Amino acid sequence: MVYNNCLFALLLIFASCAPASPSRSEYALGTVCTVTLFEQSKDSVYRDIFARIREIDNLMSVNIPSSDVSRINAAAGIAGINVNKDTFTVIERAVFFAEISGGAFDPSVGPLVSLWGIGGDDASVPSQEEIDKTLPMINWQDIELDAGTHSVFLKREGMALDLGAIAKGYAADEAAALIKNAGIKRAIIDFGGNIVTLGEKKDKTPWKIGIQNPNERRGLYFGVLQVKNTDSKQTIVTSGVNERFFEKDGVRYHHILSTSTGYPVRDGLLSVTIIAANSMDADALSTTLFALGYEEGVKLLGAFQGTEVVFVFEDNSVRVTPGADFSVIDEWFVRK
Ligand code: ADP
Ligand code: MG
Repeated sequence: MVYNNCLFALLLIFASCAPASPSRSEYALGTVCTVTLFEQSKDSVYRDIFARIREIDNLMSVNIPSSDVSRINAAAGIAGINVNKDTFTVIERAVFFAEISGGAFDPSVGPLVSLWGIGGDDASVPSQEEIDKTLPMINWQDIELDAGTHSVFLKREGMALDLGAIAKGYAADEAAALIKNAGIKRAIIDFGGNIVTLGEKKDKTPWKIGIQNPNERRGLYFGVLQVKNTDSKQTIVTSGVNERFFEKDGVRYHHILSTSTGYPVRDGLLSVTIIAANSMDADALSTTLFALGYEEGVKLLGAFQGTEVVFVFEDNSVRVTPGADFSVIDEWFVRK
């Protein structure tokens, strides 16, 4: 049984007595993308936003044969491919996260993602032999980038990029930029758990964002984050074990894969939520910290000023960095 992710973090807008806010949703980037404009919710603005989201999907999806990423993958070991500036920006940033995490986060994880098929209908546990054959194909250092020509070359045949851990964040930043440029001050973006809040609520109270209970399938939250941003944006991004997974013989196999063992990461974490300004970085960082584990992960945080984190562990304990305004509301979880 495969559960595709949808709205991972729950959005709670306790806008008392406010009229229903007009939202638009479309399926893109492998998830349901929802945008809510709290002012000037004009058709033309929504149209522009969703056109931009589809444009990014068409460049970065591995499921679209004409995408930049598919073309790069098809030419692995053969030739570099000139790509759109958007694609180059995201790959460059993904390689940065690979570098700082020693390859725990690695955009060349594609062959392993395909091998497991997690999130698709044909997910299965591969044999050790298949994993052993696949692991050597994964190495971010074999991604050759040419910033002058925006060309990307995967040095070895069989390599493949997968931007699933970072592209949604980039798309959320781009949607936020369009909203700002349209002069809209208050909005919420939710791309399958990549949330961006713009401006503040009408009554000046903070946005309240529910964080998904990582033990539950979807829609149940265990805590609430309060986010206040007067004139900038904030993003809340979660990576967890329950977003995409399948179960076999009572074992749950989730979608964040260890580039050293080839299996889903098992390091005591159930989920990692990042609160930051930049959604692309937050998206990459949530996956990176999940893949690194708590001890190694927190060491990276010094380089990300203004970034807050909520860690949830397998023993139901929760650790929160000091700057996050977070309350546990489900007694099953214990804050440490
Ligand atoms: P989601 O995209 O579902 O919100 P994440 O941002 O945590 O969740 O990204 C998980 C996705 O990233 C996987 O579905 C896969 O496509 C890709 N991925 C899996 N393992 C890794 C890894 N170690 N490094 C980089 N990307 C990964
Ligand atoms: Mg991510």
